[in-house]
Amino acid sequence: MKECLFCKIAAGEIPATKVYEDEQFVVFRDINPQAPTHVLIIPRRHIEKLTDLTESESGLIGQMQLLANKIAEQEGITSGGFRTVFNCGEGAGQSVWHIHMHLLGGRPMTWPPG
Ligand code: 5GP
Ligand code: ZN
Repeated sequence: MKECLFCKIAAGEIPATKVYEDEQFVVFRDINPQAPTHVLIIPRRHIEKLTDLTESESGLIGQMQLLANKIAEQEGITSGGFRTVFNCGEGAGQSVWHIHMHLLGGRPMTWPPG
């Protein structure tokens, strides 16, 4: 997707602080962090939002969570607790139209989220 910010970050065309990348996924620090650790886990494949996922892509979300678990360990936020979040749609606060899992940790979290 030519005009997609996260596709450009994945391709290295826009700078970001990447903490992990492989053939399928890229993980980078959020530009406006909401917690001491706030990273975004994205698939390289451009998918606009969760509701666009197809049957054949359903495994992607599980892989993203496994990757989040690994990054949480790396960041030292596992024992303190962490949160993974997808915002789907404008009403939920989605602002970038390329699916991304937020991984937040390093501070106490409250519920419900805003
Ligand atoms: P959403 O609101 O769509 O769930 O999350 C988008 C996230 O992307 C936000 O937390 C926002 O701070 C982050 N973000 C937006 N633009 C950039 C950028 O250019 N670089 C990085 N690293 N993060 C960004
Ligand atoms: Zn994209």
